Amino acid sequence: MYDFTCEHCGGQVQTRRVQREALRHKGSFVILEDVPIGVCDKCGARYFDASVLRRVAEVGRGTTPSDRTLEVPVGRY
Ligand SMILES: [Zn+2]
Repeated sequence: MYDFTCEHCGGQVQTRRVQREALRHKGSFVILEDVPIGVCDKCGARYFDASVLRRVAEVGRGTTPSDRTLEVPVGRY
């Protein structure tokens, strides 16, 4: 799925399935679970497939109903 070279450092991007990933959607966040992302094995840059981003937009817009909603504590540093 993510079999390409990192655009930042030239390292190899590997597919990794993560339990939970927060993705930005219109100034807010959508959390996807059990999602395959691409992670560079050298610099750790993260990549998201178009299908993942489409899913984020669907859940963010409410086209696809979310499974549940989490409250996320926010703090200012
Ligand atoms: Zn990299």
